[in-house]
Amino acid sequence: MRFGVHVSIGGGLARAVEAAQGLGCETMQIFAGNPRGWQRRAMSEPEGPPAHQALETTGIGPLVVHCSYLVNLASPRPEIYEKSCDVFIEDLKRCDQMGADYFVLHPGSHLGSGLEEGMARIGAAFKRMRETFAPKTRVLLENVAGGGSDIGGSFQELRQLAGRIGESHEVGVCLDTCHAFAAGYDLRTTAGWRAALDEFDRELGMDKLRVLHCNDSKGGLGSHLDRHAGIGQGQIGAEGFAAMATMPELRGLAGILEIPVETREDYLANLARIREIWASAQ
Ligand SMILES: [Zn+2]
Ligand SMILES: [Zn+2]
Repeated sequence: MRFGVHVSIGGGLARAVEAAQGLGCETMQIFAGNPRGWQRRAMSEPEGPPAHQALETTGIGPLVVHCSYLVNLASPRPEIYEKSCDVFIEDLKRCDQMGADYFVLHPGSHLGSGLEEGMARIGAAFKRMRETFAPKTRVLLENVAGGGSDIGGSFQELRQLAGRIGESHEVGVCLDTCHAFAAGYDLRTTAGWRAALDEFDRELGMDKLRVLHCNDSKGGLGSHLDRHAGIGQGQIGAEGFAAMATMPELRGLAGILEIPVETREDYLANLARIREIWASAQ
């Protein structure tokens, strides 16, 4: 597995690549813009192809971009829906400009309007995107902690949604370990991982899985709590990540850490920890 972390895009892509390289990342994730704001500033030249050349010289890849947290393509509120579609399409265009490999999207929340309606709105958003342009960057739907009106807590729901979108656009999946555990997939053991990946394969097909978000979970199994913890410091634990490391189908994939860290040293420590767990399980 190629490991990396989420780094800040505040100083532009070239700086982000430098930061990732300094941390010893083999892959990396960034936001396309401010994850908590609707405004998008025009992209300056160094963020485009030249910065991607920097990626090529460092050998870091894949480049993963995470969608803004505000985007809700399932929202029943027209104003939010329109803004969400705009930012989704804008950010995906940015991904293409940067030469990003994957664009990770939280499916969205139907906010009580119903699963079917929510999925239809997401499908319509993808259709609108396809009518605007044909992205080279592949969109990955991320599984969520589930519960409430959030769409994508189970692989079955992701399959339904992928099918709905598939009429206009082919998507992949980003599997977040914290979210899966909080949604009820027991990732503490080899048997639990086996069952989860078998279910994934039945519902979606293993070729859909492109990126893992390797996060431990503060919340318990099935708690629906989206609270990330450092590797081995949550309820999945070091044993859960050791079990993950024995799954052959995950070997070539990218693993991004989205750990709530204060310092660079914390990131280095978490990266070292997961690499050590991974190496000793091979
Ligand atoms: Zn996410
Ligand atoms: Zn999360």
